[in-house]
This record gives sequence, C-alpha cells and structure tokens, in this order.
Amino acid sequence: MPAKNPTSGSLFMVVAPSGAGKSTLVNALLKQEPEIKLSISYTTRPPRPGEEHGREYYFTTADDFLKRQAEGEFLEWAEVHGNYYGTSRLMIADQISNGTDVLLEIDWQGAQQVKKQFSNAIGIFILPPSIAALEERLKKRGQDEPHVITRRILAAGGEIAHSPEFEYVIINQEFAVALSELTAIVKAARCRFPQQAARNTFLFTQLGIHASS
Ligand code: 5GP
Repeated sequence: MPAKNPTSGSLFMVVAPSGAGKSTLVNALLKQEPEIKLSISYTTRPPRPGEEHGREYYFTTADDFLKRQAEGEFLEWAEVHGNYYGTSRLMIADQISNGTDVLLEIDWQGAQQVKKQFSNAIGIFILPPSIAALEERLKKRGQDEPHVITRRILAAGGEIAHSPEFEYVIINQEFAVALSELTAIVKAARCRFPQQAARNTFLFTQLGIHASS
C-alpha cells in the first residue's frame, strides 16, 4: 500500500514503556490542546479500576478482536504484555481527512505499522529518567497485579531499544519540562507548510502562495 499522508491534520504517535508517565503527559497535553483527538484503541486487557469502556479503551474479547483484525478493521495492532491492542482504521481516516490532529498512544510495533502507511506521522518516545524510576512509578500506580508489573518491567528494556526509531525523544524527569517539550513538538508539527496551507487555504490563496513554490 503506498504511504498516504494526512493533508491538514497531524498524526502523532506517543510511545513509552509502562511507567514512563505517558498517559499523564498525554492527558495534560490534551487539556492544553483540546482540539487534538485521542484515538481510543481496542484491547483484550481487562479494565483497571476506574477505567471505562469507550473512554480509555474499547474493552473486548480475544475472539471479537481477532475477528475485527481478520476483517481489516485495524490500522495497526499488536500483542503487548500478553494482550491484544489495536487502532480502528475508520476512525483515524475520518479524523485525518477532516483536518483533525489525532494522537495515538500505542507501542513501538504499532508505530512501525502506522509509519508505513502515514510516512509523515510524528513519532515521540517518552523515556523514564531511570529504570528505578520506572519500577517505582509502576508499583506506586498500584493498578496492576504484581506479576503484571514484573512482566512490564522486564519488557521495558526491549521497548526502550526501539527509541532510536522515533523523531523525538522526551525524558520525563520533571513533569513540567516534559510537558512543555511535548507541547512544543505538537505546535511545531502544526506549523509545517502543508498543514498550515491546508488550514489557511483562503489566506494562502490571497497571498498568492502555491504549495509547489
Ligand atoms: P496499557 O495496558 O498499560 O494501557 O497499555 C500497554 C501498552 O499497549 C502501552 O505501551 C500502550 O501504548 C500500548 N497500546 C495501547 N493501545 C494500543 C494500540 O491500539 N495499538 C498498539 N500497538 N499498542 C497499544
């Protein structure tokens, strides 16, 4: 399939090992930039306390997930920490063609698949300041069973090994600094020529600017 590119909306992929603080950072970004649409993935993972179907994820069974996968419903999908996760192709295509900025919170395997289809998707990897900090955050969160936490800590090194594949890397040592870096990346992405031109067609026409000039 040839690589398509969103015309006006930007497609962001935020990737991190569990415990790097990715969801907290993304939620804070979305508060500041409410026009960015967060993609809600499908997962076979059971809901954590406080999670709601249709808000954090569409929670489903392995049978249902694999059926959707076989029918080509997912833009990308992967098995992560023993569960399936996938992004709905339809939802993303609709948003992007509307000019909406979309953010995917996915893993590195999913990011590789998206990049093949949207070559100008922007990959952002969130690193913890240390492995000890990662472990501490996962334990403090207290929302997963101990064996799940252990599995995630063991997987972290393998995930971090994929960080060089990403355009941007943020070290989440100080939350405020990391958030301002994430916001800066989003703002810069929106100032790329094609995105500006698509959002401001009237002005660009008035100023006699042509995309090829
Ligand atoms: P969690 O179970 O902690 O919510 O997520 C576990 C991992 O799965 C995280 O790295 C998260 O980014 C990833 N993930 C969540 N949704 C998707 C998805 O739709 N596709 C892929 N490939 N990974 C996902």
